[in-house]
Amino acid sequence: MEEATVAHVLVFPCPLQGHVGSMLKLAELLALHHLHVTFLNTECIHNRLTRFGAIEALLECYPTLHFKTISDCYNEGQHPGSRDNSMGDITLSTTLHAKPLLRQILVSENPGTPKVSCIIQDGIFGSLAIDLASELGIRIPIIHFRASSACCFWPYFWIPKLFECKELPIRDEDMDRMIRNMPGMENLLRCRDLPSFCRPSSQGNMSMDWVALQTKQSLEADALILNTFEELDGPILSQIRLHFPKLYTIGPLHHHLNVTKATGILSLRTVFFQVDRSCMAWLDAQPQGSVIYVSFGSSTIVKREELMEFWHGLVSSKKRFLWVMRHDLVAGKGNDDRIPAEVEEGTKEKGFIVEWAPQEEVLAHKATGGFLTHSGWNSTLESLVAGVPMICWPYFADQQVNNRFVSEVWKLGLDMKDVCDRHVVENMVNDLTDHRKEEFLRSTQEMGMLAHSVSPGGSSYSSLHDLVQYIKSASQ
Ligand code: UDP
Repeated sequence: MEEATVAHVLVFPCPLQGHVGSMLKLAELLALHHLHVTFLNTECIHNRLTRFGAIEALLECYPTLHFKTISDCYNEGQHPGSRDNSMGDITLSTTLHAKPLLRQILVSENPGTPKVSCIIQDGIFGSLAIDLASELGIRIPIIHFRASSACCFWPYFWIPKLFECKELPIRDEDMDRMIRNMPGMENLLRCRDLPSFCRPSSQGNMSMDWVALQTKQSLEADALILNTFEELDGPILSQIRLHFPKLYTIGPLHHHLNVTKATGILSLRTVFFQVDRSCMAWLDAQPQGSVIYVSFGSSTIVKREELMEFWHGLVSSKKRFLWVMRHDLVAGKGNDDRIPAEVEEGTKEKGFIVEWAPQEEVLAHKATGGFLTHSGWNSTLESLVAGVPMICWPYFADQQVNNRFVSEVWKLGLDMKDVCDRHVVENMVNDLTDHRKEEFLRSTQEMGMLAHSVSPGGSSYSSLHDLVQYIKSASQ
């Protein structure tokens, strides 16, 4: 029988789909290693997860996993991360609302549950947990988790240096200039490949200064966790380790969880939206590798003109396509005009539209031959594991950098950054699935093999083991 553990980890994500999704997977992995885990959600997120059955299923699966909620300032139906809420607002208001409950959790004694002995906090909250622990005089490990990629964490961290050597700020006419002074990434990123906040046109209160500051605050944490793996990001991780020596790389998290559960089925997916499974029957009826899956994640907004360019390009390519169109995907349209009529009508011949797909399953389906994506980090990892090549059209934050790595470093797809033209879409779809098909098949297969890092003996497997040991030893 497994020894009883006194380790109790508090996991606290930023209330955005990509962050909650990956930190829940981390929480599941820790619970599978018999740690007590308290997962702190905002009410809005918790209600969503409850509505779609995720909380009930998780509680049933993991006896040592518990949830606590903090109030937030969002109404039911108003999704944090939607166009009305900037990242800065979300983190600020969540931090403010979380403090009283965090204080209470950290000092309270509950019969049957060990005291919190470690905090894993979303790195985006900066010094929140460190400040609270110091205010309460508590000395427990505080670990930062970043939901974004390592290849973006590094430029975030390096922003002040880029200013020092005059590579920043950038002007509109600099977009194709190469960034020279970033160790491990010399002459790899063009200005347009830097995180979106570095652009002159960048708006909102998630400014470069703010991103650089909260990244720097991770230096004060006891350890850092990244959702990547050694074989994918080795050179960048060596650079990051120079500043963050206690670094755990345990990704791809979704794959790690699927392999650890060893049930032969995909892990319980964190569901924020009503999943429409009708597309799976449609996929079953399509020839192998014939379908382009199109999804821009949970919060990308496209203009109506852009949507039409994508649609015309897909139709002209004469390929089949499965397209995720969230009801709030298109900017500035009314609810009665959810999908432009010509798109809905014209899609019937070769395409299928859903509001939200079971993405991991779609990517793993044999009919799926390509992914037109916004290069969100979770989507990128899911595509990489499934061996599906990508056409990247990044929206914001780390997506610009992820896109550059997919096309230039990992050779897993094509870069359509800053372009939205039907002819380009058509050509790229045909390149991906016909003209350069063999080349992408080779590189995606090779990369898929490397993702076995999560199997026993692999680098991510060992890193998770080390993380669990570290948490346990700090809880003695
Ligand atoms: N996703 C999904 N169904 C969809 C679209 C997306 O399940 O129809 C999931 C996808 O599998 C991924 C997450 O939503 O895990 C999107 O995360 P990502 O980091 O790629 O982008 P974000 O939504 O944070 O912009």
